[in-house]
Amino acid sequence: MIIRAILEDITALAVDAIVNAANCSLLGGGGVDGAIHRAAGPELLKACRPLGGCKTGEARITPGFRLSAKYVIHTPGPVWHGGNHREPELLRNCYRNSLELANGRQCRTVAFPGISTGVYSYPLRAASEIAVKTVSEWDGRFPEETIFCCFSREALEIYQEILKYHQTRSLS
Ligand code: ADP
Repeated sequence: MIIRAILEDITALAVDAIVNAANCSLLGGGGVDGAIHRAAGPELLKACRPLGGCKTGEARITPGFRLSAKYVIHTPGPVWHGGNHREPELLRNCYRNSLELANGRQCRTVAFPGISTGVYSYPLRAASEIAVKTVSEWDGRFPEETIFCCFSREALEIYQEILKYHQTRSLS
């Protein structure tokens, strides 16, 4: 799989699926969640309502409506409570369950935001390491390309550093 990091607004990406760092209600919120709902239009909320929410670490898929992306995969990340409340495992589940849904819909390209690294306060480096490791280990047929869509230069630099380390290791 091709894995790369870019600095972009995830709502602008023309990929098969973008991942939404949702909350458990799936009814929208602030941060990337709010931006995705605004860009997708009110149909997205209408599609989310009947889903009846989603547990932390699980994932649900809807159409992308007015987005360029065909699908939105919604996954509530863990709130950071110091690291001893299953946060790493739950964050890993977010990535894995999102990839599973992308694979099921044969999505060639998928873009992830930094799940939990905003309002949910997961430390950026630790969260990014889990993101890269979990995606690198994925052995499904799809996606063929995963994009880590960073929203700050700091996040981009961290991802690039981790990716470089992983790619060096996987070549040796
Ligand atoms: P969480 O509640 O999971 O922490 P947030 O939306 O608060 O979710 O933040 C998750 C990450 O998404 C943060 O790193 C934030 O900088 C980033 N982010 C916010 N808006 C966008 C956007 N439009 N595109 C990509 N990333 C975004």
